[in-house]
Amino acid sequence: MTVIYNRVALVGLGLIASSMFWAMKRKGLAGEVTGYARSEATRDTARRIGLCDRVCDSLADAVKDADLVVLAVPVGVMGAVAAEIAPALKPGATVTDVGSVKRDVINSVGPHLPAGVHFIPGHPLAGTEHSGPESGFAELFDNRWHLLVPAEGSDETAVAQLRRLWEDIGANVEIMDADHHDLVLAVTSHAPHLIAYTMVGVADDLRRVTDSEVIKYSAAGFRDFTRIAASDPTMWRDVFLANKDATLEILGRFTEELFALQRAIRTGDGDHLHDYFTRTRAIRRGIIEAGQDTAAPDFGRTKTPS
Ligand code: NAP
Repeated sequence: MTVIYNRVALVGLGLIASSMFWAMKRKGLAGEVTGYARSEATRDTARRIGLCDRVCDSLADAVKDADLVVLAVPVGVMGAVAAEIAPALKPGATVTDVGSVKRDVINSVGPHLPAGVHFIPGHPLAGTEHSGPESGFAELFDNRWHLLVPAEGSDETAVAQLRRLWEDIGANVEIMDADHHDLVLAVTSHAPHLIAYTMVGVADDLRRVTDSEVIKYSAAGFRDFTRIAASDPTMWRDVFLANKDATLEILGRFTEELFALQRAIRTGDGDHLHDYFTRTRAIRRGIIEAGQDTAAPDFGRTKTPS
């Protein structure tokens, strides 16, 4: 049991912050953890379930004297929250975030933070479709990536300390450039979410025609889309608005590929389809070999009644 930060403040008490709390508690990584969420209802829930050592009723109280402040709120409000906490921050403190987009957060948070406070943005590549203070669990980050995006010239000791926290939480840490991060995540997470939202929307339209058949005969592929499309609407609205350029770039490429596949189907070009699916199958094997998913049928999940 090694304490890495004496005082940690969690701003926002949803899936990511609550998972961080339970993971830090599991290994005794923080002396005291304070927490703040916007609504009284969330703060009451946090107190009831023992989330945080102390839940505060104001942002300033939560971050006062904290050695590490974690911004775990939707990307669209990071700047406003940073402006509000800035006067209460302890000199020498580290501020990090867990937002799914990095350049926009750097631009909106960075200018508010006083000199002498270390700002080291980050993004854990771990999540579920659930949100809120009761959705967190200590194992969420185990063996998942945590990407740190420090600006050039960041304090090396502060970066090393934050890196150690995330490693002891259970994650594998990598340093990445902000723009590169946003492009990679547009491919691996943001565009796929938009596609899932669209597919479920299409099925919903169809349901009006075919009654409940879409749900009744919902096959594994579509069920996976519905799981992704159940993700928090506020978080994902903010992700798309904040990562606009990279998402539009990837969606442009996606549309071109989709048209090519559409054309292959129309013209009966089976070779094109077969070659394409052979290539994508190899990518799936690569993900399993890299330990990022399981080869078990239905991704190892217990069967849900269809
Ligand atoms: P969440 O479960 O929806 O929780 C968000 C929390 O932020 C809630 O406690 C909410 O308080 C609070 N909040 C919202 N606006 C606020 C404000 N203006 N001031 C103070 N608190 C405010 O969200 P999450 O899934 O933990 O996501 C948090 C961040 O992590 C987001 O930036 C997201 O992009 C990123 N992230 C999410 C995932 C994922 O899969 N979910 C994965 C990686 C990174 P109330 O409950 O009172 O509204």
